[in-house]
Amino acid sequence: MMTVLPILVAPNPLLRKKALPVQEVDSQIQRLLEDLEETMIAEDGIGLAATQVGIPKRILVMNVPANVTVNGEQIEGMNSNPDLYHIINPEIVWASDTLVACNEGCLSVPGQYAPVIRPDSVRVRYLNKAGKFCETTFLNLQAACVQHEIDHLDGKLFIDYLSALKRDMLIRKAQKVRR
Ligand SMILES: [Zn+2]
Repeated sequence: MMTVLPILVAPNPLLRKKALPVQEVDSQIQRLLEDLEETMIAEDGIGLAATQVGIPKRILVMNVPANVTVNGEQIEGMNSNPDLYHIINPEIVWASDTLVACNEGCLSVPGQYAPVIRPDSVRVRYLNKAGKFCETTFLNLQAACVQHEIDHLDGKLFIDYLSALKRDMLIRKAQKVRR
């Protein structure tokens, strides 16, 4: 059975903790992936990092529709739902020089959105749910999402890319829509 976990809201200090690599993909880690997936779906998110539920492990889930007009170069790591990714110990091994602004939001800063400029494609090396090494090139919204989620594992939020004034304002506004 999967569990919907409570999501931490900024400025919770646990969101600033740097997560540690997973040593072994065992049943406990697989269970956590399933709970993260269930939580992401229940909260209508497109990505969720373990940091956001207060677990400092380098794990994230993502469910962004792939852009089918571009070949995503998905070398490995395909599962029954190719848009759903279980990602452990991610490492960005390549990033495009081309930057793009994407309007980002975050379940930990509920109801708030702001444009963030990032590389428009990245190649990520990671372990999948089966503990197998994968390398996937993410494009467009998937690229923005995976970079946003990897930032979470380093204790970073999308609002950190904004001015201090704007950041504080979004944190204040997020308190009012706090679940
Ligand atoms: Zn987020």
